[in-house]
Amino acid sequence: MKIPCAPADDRLDATCKALRAQVREFLRNELSIGGFAPQCDSWLRGFDRAFTRKLGARGWLGMTWPRRYGGQERSQRERYVVIEELLAAGAPVAGHWVAERQVGPSILRHGTEEQKQGLVPPIARGESIFGACYSEPDVGSDLASVKARAVRIDGGWKITGTKVWTSQGHNADHLFVLCRTSDGAGVKHRGLSMLIVAMPAKGLAVRPIRLLTGEHHFNEMVFDGVEVPDSMVLGGEGEGWNIVTGDLASERSGPERFMSTLPLLGEMIRKARATPADARAEIVIGELVSRFWTLRSMSIGVAALMEQGHQPGVEAALVKDLGTRFEGDVAQAARLLYPMVPSLDSDERFENFAAQAILHTPAYTLRGGTNEVLRGIIARGLGLR
Ligand SMILES: Cc1cc2nc3c(=O)[nH]c(=O)nc-3n(C[C@H](O)[C@H](O)[C@H](O)COP(=O)(O)OP(=O)(O)OC[C@H]3O[C@@H](n4cnc5c(N)ncnc54)[C@H](O)[C@@H]3O)c2cc1C
Repeated sequence: MKIPCAPADDRLDATCKALRAQVREFLRNELSIGGFAPQCDSWLRGFDRAFTRKLGARGWLGMTWPRRYGGQERSQRERYVVIEELLAAGAPVAGHWVAERQVGPSILRHGTEEQKQGLVPPIARGESIFGACYSEPDVGSDLASVKARAVRIDGGWKITGTKVWTSQGHNADHLFVLCRTSDGAGVKHRGLSMLIVAMPAKGLAVRPIRLLTGEHHFNEMVFDGVEVPDSMVLGGEGEGWNIVTGDLASERSGPERFMSTLPLLGEMIRKARATPADARAEIVIGELVSRFWTLRSMSIGVAALMEQGHQPGVEAALVKDLGTRFEGDVAQAARLLYPMVPSLDSDERFENFAAQAILHTPAYTLRGGTNEVLRGIIARGLGLR
């Protein structure tokens, strides 16, 4: 399978272009009424339930999903245009990101009719926030080794164990919890199940883990006998690994994997335009923009493959590895090109965005699978290991 390589905009038809204009108009209006303050890494740090609901009301969440489950039956590329514009504007989209990107599609793929009808439409309306409880204190890259255990009780399961780095766990209405439900006859990928926990849950302690910036974004989640009914097991007992790995193409290839620092790159371009010609700045910014354009083309290509029903896991890993390195390079270039004191409290947008981008840099190549692990996946896909 090859990523289709036509220039990115050739694959975006007139419908996509009209939609882009609508989203830009909406964002311009929101900015003019002070609806949000643009920021770097807005899909991680920009939590705003009201903004998420506004997107839901416009039909811009779950756009590709069937209408009977609250979707719009639009194309992957139309969805791509919407999320691209939201990220470029640094809009506060963290509330629905996990739910819209991976939870909704997972429930549509693996859920019972009752789960689809009950859980998916509220996500499309922007009314349901999900947290993904996969990682554990000693388990991240080697996800199949999860230790959180769910044991059978009458009519359901009881979960005990600790999860970490749960983004938006403190705001979530539901959690996707990957648990061990049997020993899988000694094969660690078997015996895992995905349990859906409704919040607030009795027996669950949610403890903040602060970012370098002091912000509260993710959490440690301690499950001490949290009960889940059978009706909230996704895809049946033992299907957990299949569900998690199926999510990865959509989790890794999207434009959020190279656009977290785009608002900063935009400020760099504005700065370069406003100052006398500077050959060094032109070269550095020119290189960054051409890398961005290549990544965008590849990522739209992956969206096109998904639209054709493929699961482009290796291609997605490639986009994420190249994209997350690009995000860090933007922060680094800003720091080296222009003398400044990056500060989260600065009124100067450039210094403010630079501080956000720099302080979030360690996360880019970790979240959603580290770059070392992605390169292992790419090597395997190329038949090199
Ligand atoms: C901002 C942010 C948000 C996150 N949100 C969530 C969330 O919502 N839900 C969730 O479940 N998790 C979340 N995570 C966790 C994230 O998925 C893990 O941090 C990631 O999978 C890496 O796992 P780890 O931290 O345990 O590192 P480890 O797996 O311990 O890795 C440590 C180092 O060893 C390297 N390494 C490990 N295995 C190999 C190998 N086989 N070959 C080569 N090198 C290897 C890694 O690349 C890394 O450099 C989030 C993380 C961040 C930073």
